[in-house]
Amino acid sequence: MKIYNTLTKKKEEFIPITSGEVKMYVCGPTVYNFFHIGNGRTFIVFDAFRRYLEYRGYSVKFVQNFTDIDDKMIKKANEENTTVRELGDRFINEYYKDADALNIKRASINPRATEFIDEIVDFVKDLVDRGYAYEVDGDVYFSTKKFNDYGKLSGQKLDDLQAGARISVDERKKDPMDFAVWKKQKPGEPAWESPWGLGRPGWHIECSCMAHKLLGETIDIHAGGEDLVFPHHENEIAQSEARSGKTFANYWIHSAFINVDNRKMSKSLNNFFTAREILKNYDPDVVRLFMLSGHYRTQLNFSVDLLDSAKASLERLYNAVGNLESLLEEVNAETMSDEEKTYKINLDSYRDKYIEKMDDDFNTADGISIIFDLVRDINSNIDINSSKELIKYSLELIRELGQPLGILQKSTKGSLEDEIEELIAQRQQARKEKKWDLSDKIRDDLKSRGIVLEDTPQGVRWKKV
Ligand code: AMP
Ligand code: ZN
Repeated sequence: MKIYNTLTKKKEEFIPITSGEVKMYVCGPTVYNFFHIGNGRTFIVFDAFRRYLEYRGYSVKFVQNFTDIDDKMIKKANEENTTVRELGDRFINEYYKDADALNIKRASINPRATEFIDEIVDFVKDLVDRGYAYEVDGDVYFSTKKFNDYGKLSGQKLDDLQAGARISVDERKKDPMDFAVWKKQKPGEPAWESPWGLGRPGWHIECSCMAHKLLGETIDIHAGGEDLVFPHHENEIAQSEARSGKTFANYWIHSAFINVDNRKMSKSLNNFFTAREILKNYDPDVVRLFMLSGHYRTQLNFSVDLLDSAKASLERLYNAVGNLESLLEEVNAETMSDEEKTYKINLDSYRDKYIEKMDDDFNTADGISIIFDLVRDINSNIDINSSKELIKYSLELIRELGQPLGILQKSTKGSLEDEIEELIAQRQQARKEKKWDLSDKIRDDLKSRGIVLEDTPQGVRWKKV
C-alpha cells in the first residue's frame, strides 16, 4: 500500500512499525461549537482510511483528540456565562451525535487536553531541562532555532518562514518564531499548577503529549486538515523530536479543504453549513459519497447541486441493492451454475481493481468508480434466472466494497416498507379531508410500483403483486 507523505512529498510504501498494526493520530476538533462539513470532510476522510486499513487486515489504534482548552473555548465560555469544562462536555456530546449520524466510527480513544495536564507539564519540563524551551515570567516558549530540523514538514527554512509569517512581535521571546508551550494565566482564565506558576498548555503541546502517551514515541500515521501543516504539525514535530530524539511520525497525511466559492469553509468567514443542518436534508451515505468522490488531497467545492448529484448517484447504487434484495426472494435456483461460477470470477476482478485503486494513496474517487462499474455489470447480468447463491454473493460484494467508505450498508427493505406506510397514512388523511383526487393518485402511484392496497375491517393492508 502506498501513502503520500507530506514530509517527503512522495508516495511511499506503507510499512508499519509493528507488522499488522497501525498507530494513527488525527487532530480533532476544538469543542466550542457544532462542527461544519469542512471539519466533517477531515473526519470522514480519516474514518475511511482507518476503515480501509482495517479492511486490509491491520489492527488500527486510532486516536483523535478533543481540544477543550484554548482561546476560542475561553471566549465562548465567557460569552455564554459558563465554564470551559461545561462547554467542552456539551460540544463533545454534540460531536458524537453528529459523528455517529455520519457513520464515523468511534475512535479507539478520544483524549481531552484537560485530562492530560500533568503529563503535559512533565513534557514541558523535559523540554526546559534539555534546553529546548525557556521560561519568561510564567510563559514557556519553545526555542525553534535549537531544533535543527525546524521547517522540515512545511519544506521551508526557518529564515524563510520567519520572513513569510505574520507573527506578532513579542519582546519577551528570544526569537519571533518561538512558540508558547505553556501560557501564564490571564485574569479570569482557567488554570492549572505548574513549576512556572498557574497557567495552561499551548495548543501544539497537547497533541505531542497525548500521541506519545497513548501511542508511543514514534507513531505510524499522523493526520489532519491541510491547514495544520504549519505551524501546528511543524511545532508538534519540533517538540516531540526534541524531547525523544526519535522520529515522531513516519507518515504525515493531510486532507484538503472544502471550499465555498473558492474560499475555505470556516466559522470566521461565516460561509459554513453544520453537519447537523446538512443531515436534515441528506442521508449520511450521500454526504459521505460526496466527500469521498473527490481525491482527499484535492480541494472540494461545496454546493447543493453537487450534493444533489451525489444523491442521484447513490440512488443508482441503492436501486441495484434493492433489486438484488427483491430477486433474492423471488428466484428459484439455489446454487450457482457452472456458467455463474465463471461469472463470479469476473465479479471478483472488481474487488482486485478496487483494492489496487485504494492501495494507491487511498484513491477513494477511483474506488467509487469501480463500485459503479461493478453495479453496472451486475444490473445487466443478474436477473430472475440467476441463483440465490450468486445474487447473495453480488449483494455482499457491493456491501463489502462500500464498507471501507462507510456507505451501502443499509437494506432497502426496511425503508421501502416505511415509505409505503407513510404513503398509506397520507392517503388516509386525504380521504378524511375528502381530497379524492389525491387519495386516488397515491393509490395509483403505488399500483404502478406493484403495490396493491386493500381496505379491510382492520385497516389498510398492502401487498406486492
Ligand atoms: P478546528 O475545529 O477548527 O480545529 O478544525 C478541526 C479539523 O477540521 C482540523 O483538522 C482542520 O484542519 C479541519 N478543517 C477546518 N476547516 C476545514 C475545511 N473548510 N475543509 C476541510 N477541513 C477543515
Ligand atoms: Zn494536533
